[in-house]
Amino acid sequence: MSLVADNLKTIHQTIEKQASAYDRAARAVNLVAVSKRQPMSKIQDALDAGHRLFGENRVQEAQEHWHVHREQYKDLTLHLIGPLQTNKAKEAVALFDVIETLDREKLAVALYKEMDKQERYLPCFIQVNTGDEEQKAGIAPDNLPDFIAFCQHLKINVVGLMCIPPVDEPAALHFAFLKKLALENGLKELSMGMSGDYQQAIAVGATYIRVGTGVFGARD
Ligand SMILES: *Cc1c(COP(=O)(O)O)cnc(C)c1O
Repeated sequence: MSLVADNLKTIHQTIEKQASAYDRAARAVNLVAVSKRQPMSKIQDALDAGHRLFGENRVQEAQEHWHVHREQYKDLTLHLIGPLQTNKAKEAVALFDVIETLDREKLAVALYKEMDKQERYLPCFIQVNTGDEEQKAGIAPDNLPDFIAFCQHLKINVVGLMCIPPVDEPAALHFAFLKKLALENGLKELSMGMSGDYQQAIAVGATYIRVGTGVFGARD
């Protein structure tokens, strides 16, 4: 068994354990294997192990990683988990199945225009800057209700919220905050938790966890 297959198995076991400890169904927790800056050989190991849900944070690298596999593995699901520039909306809509980083009106407009043109109406998460960090992507929590309304008015399919907690604060507080925002706004899906903190995220209600190094090992 490859190291990647072994890691996947361990993480699935941890998901099971943690979900059951918090009275949740393990199948309600989806593992997004983050393949950014990982070699093709390890990506292949994950595919060989039967894994089909992946995340990438840059459009161009994602194209390099996935344009061939896309044809071969029809059941592949690709999430964009990094910031998106409006001038890359076309490529992003063509390649990805889910956009997790919708965070401003200009991007919403550009994305919907492309989705309409390509007739690919992708489910989207809104990224929330839960720590109100100046340099970080994501919509400010105070502006979230208006932004959701704006996206829904455009007919974007907003399925949930995503966050990346500040590195120097307890992640669990931010996960709980994101959960509260989702409840208040009637959204179901929560993308939160990475290699170091996904167990806490499951405890709070994550429906998608984004795990990179935990699956593939250290990045280049
Ligand atoms: C890289 C990345 C991850 C994965 O991080 P790990 O610590 O390697 O698990 C998760 N989410 C986002 C948005 C990322 O950019």
